[in-house]
Amino acid sequence: MRRQRSTKILATLGPSSSDEATITALFEAGADAFRLNFSHGDHADHKRRVKIIRALEKRMKRPIAIIADMQGPKLRIGAFKDGAVTLEEGQAFRLDLNEKPGDAKRVSLPHPEVFSAIKAGSDLLLNDGKLRLRVNKVGKRGADTEVIVGGELSDRKGVNLPDTILPLSALTTKDRRDLSFALTLGVDYIALSFVQRPEDVAEARKAIGGKAAVLAKIEKPSALERLDEIVDLSDAIMIARGDLGVELPVNEVPGLQKRIVRAARHAGKPVVVATQMLESMINAPVPTRAEVSDVATAVYDGADAVMLSAESAAGDYPLEAVETMSGIADQVQKDPLYRGIMDADHANPEATAADAITAAARQVAETIGATAIVTYTTSGSTTLRAARERPYAPILCLTPAIETARRLALVWGVHSVHTSDVASFSEMVRKACRIAEKEELATKGSRLVVTAGVPFGTPGSTNVLRIAWVGGQN
Ligand code: PEP
Repeated sequence: MRRQRSTKILATLGPSSSDEATITALFEAGADAFRLNFSHGDHADHKRRVKIIRALEKRMKRPIAIIADMQGPKLRIGAFKDGAVTLEEGQAFRLDLNEKPGDAKRVSLPHPEVFSAIKAGSDLLLNDGKLRLRVNKVGKRGADTEVIVGGELSDRKGVNLPDTILPLSALTTKDRRDLSFALTLGVDYIALSFVQRPEDVAEARKAIGGKAAVLAKIEKPSALERLDEIVDLSDAIMIARGDLGVELPVNEVPGLQKRIVRAARHAGKPVVVATQMLESMINAPVPTRAEVSDVATAVYDGADAVMLSAESAAGDYPLEAVETMSGIADQVQKDPLYRGIMDADHANPEATAADAITAAARQVAETIGATAIVTYTTSGSTTLRAARERPYAPILCLTPAIETARRLALVWGVHSVHTSDVASFSEMVRKACRIAEKEELATKGSRLVVTAGVPFGTPGSTNVLRIAWVGGQN
């Protein structure tokens, strides 16, 4: 089974999409990867979903990427006596460490580190940025604020601190528990929420110990200040537009999206555009025109993947949402303007053997009209460099590592196949031709461009480019 689409679809699983029939239907409709959101559901739910995905993978003989998304240091207020209050503009309101239920004058914010980090003049945003409080005075056990933008505030709403760097790790105690559990399930990526600095990624990478790839969610202004370093330390990036649009003015999000996609593409790291892409499809079987345009923009920009959140996790039309996304990506890919728009951001090869070979592979494939570029890889790094080229021909990745095959399911233009390593030049060519034909990437008479590292089986040694002729003399 081969998809024609280069941009991948990442679907979040939740109450609307947890049984085997629905997950199978989502995959068949176009989902290439699934996200488990550890902010919701319990461990048993996530375990069941992973079991279903891995069985599906076996049946379909296609590697599927699973992303375990950690909740991260999401700050929340406590509860109110009456469940909710309404705050008026200009009134005083206190946040403190007192555990007593709140009222119209105060509520608990059970995070002492907030009170040591905020300063008079800092803003706190509540309930997805709908309410804004400005700090007047701060002490060890609380802060007195003035309501700048009022509204209803109910139990346990989220708090964002856009202009404050908190002395918090990107992994909370809950995250560490979730992380160990997710690793026992054999997930492919761990997504880190509210990354503030590169050190957060380094710390998580240490905790993960190579058992999964690290995906950094960009949603904090402080992360944008050191974006290149964060991209460098991560295996993948997500533009988490939900919290990003709370922490920063929403009108800055489109420009930031372009900047982050470009940074990730230049570094050759997969980048996912996420949140509210088809939001209205939570309750309707068709999207708005603006949503279609939003998905299309991400595809024109050359993002590796587009994501569905509540649309597939908790909406009424999960299947229609995946079909819609897939249809948009297919259509953009057929647009004669697509290549020009996407290639406007093409990054030059770096001065390495792997980049020299992969850039040449793209050129040779175009010149001879090859039907696929075949990359032999163990770690996946050569395939990522090939994808960085955004070639016209699809990339067939042949790897002896199932983890690599799965991780690459999230990457632009890559069709990966888990297969044994080769030991000789002739075997390299024969195998590339046989698998390309079987996977519908070539027919008799097609030509392929094959890259590999000699001596075979030595990671990081990509140094060979070979043209192969399917069904012909090689
Ligand atoms: C986001 O904030 O856009 C996001 C993807 O994170 P989450 O869904 O975990 O809030």
